[in-house]
Amino acid sequence: MPTARTNLLDLDRKAMEAFFQALGHKAFHGRNVLKWIHKHGVTDFDAMTDLPKALRATLRDVAEVVVPGVVLEQPAVDGTRKWLLELADGQRIESVLIPDGDRTTLCVSSQVGCALDCSFCSTARQGFNRNLSVGEIVAQVWVAWRRSARPLTNVVLMGMGEPLANFEAVVSAMDVMQDDLAYGLSKYRVTLSTSGIVPAIRRLREVSDVSLAVSLHAPDNALRDELVPINRKYPLEELLPACADYVAGDRRRKVTFEYVMLDGVNDSDAHAKALIRLLEGVPAKMNLIPFNPFPASGYRTSPPERVERFRQRLLRSGLMAMTRKTRGDDIDAACGQLVGRVQDRSRRQLQPQFVKIVWRTDGHVA
Ligand code: SAH
Repeated sequence: MPTARTNLLDLDRKAMEAFFQALGHKAFHGRNVLKWIHKHGVTDFDAMTDLPKALRATLRDVAEVVVPGVVLEQPAVDGTRKWLLELADGQRIESVLIPDGDRTTLCVSSQVGCALDCSFCSTARQGFNRNLSVGEIVAQVWVAWRRSARPLTNVVLMGMGEPLANFEAVVSAMDVMQDDLAYGLSKYRVTLSTSGIVPAIRRLREVSDVSLAVSLHAPDNALRDELVPINRKYPLEELLPACADYVAGDRRRKVTFEYVMLDGVNDSDAHAKALIRLLEGVPAKMNLIPFNPFPASGYRTSPPERVERFRQRLLRSGLMAMTRKTRGDDIDAACGQLVGRVQDRSRRQLQPQFVKIVWRTDGHVA
């Protein structure tokens, strides 16, 4: 008897083909299973009717499809929806669905907690727990795909964790998101956001073509060292060329730079001017994010007029700049405050009275 079954949610197309070949079967069965699981949401091998009966029996012995339980599904008044998922070892992660015009974007987590110590991020306060597996990252899409009232059009790796610090799993999970047999999202519709791990940005370009977002947050090394401490290891003079190289060769592509607007810290006219100079020659679009406060953060949100003035300055210099709408405020689903508060709450209040839905692996709602 096999002791550990393979979770097929962990396998991208290549791994799935190899798995079936190792079982002595044809690779195309692997492609079919990928389709069953992701396109049709089927996790029961017996329902995969185009597989030979004997293969289905083998799969029951050696494989499984493990989907995390949905502990909580929370809709916000603005249409944002948040899922709290429980992993096999009891860890909890969140993903958030954000409808906006004709887009429906899912924000997924790549780690439980985060090892980086960005001073304004509540996930940082939780510390680092562990990497998510391919299946745990993909499962967030699997769950949202089936539970969203609107078709999912975009995925951003902007939830909890630093995706490039979980490189192999994240790349493989993004392959599944882009695979026509699974979710079929184009390279423009899958975006990875990183704090700026330079060697990993360079490696990413070799193995993936997803869109890149970089958490810039400051126009100079002194301030960025303070806000995004990984900058001490990979300073701006290394980060920006890596960003420019990432989109080199395709004039339509730009790197999105995220910039959290912190009152009196990085939001002055002088900062805007320095930012314009810094990004000269880098194909860039700026995404200004009003800071989402959390208890004892030590920061305040820049007033809306300040954000707008900052944005106008960038626009006047020819930089594309937009301000990210704060969404899902009433359910703590806003940027950078996801799991910090929810983890707290899940410990103190959520159980058991707030637990609405538990969706077990076998598809039954408990
Ligand atoms: N580790 C990745 C993904 C993090 S979350 C990264 O650093 O890019 C996505 C974005 O939310 C990042 O730009 C992050 O800096 C930003 N963010 C974190 N905390 C925030 C907060 N409290 N308010 C607004 N944005 C925040």
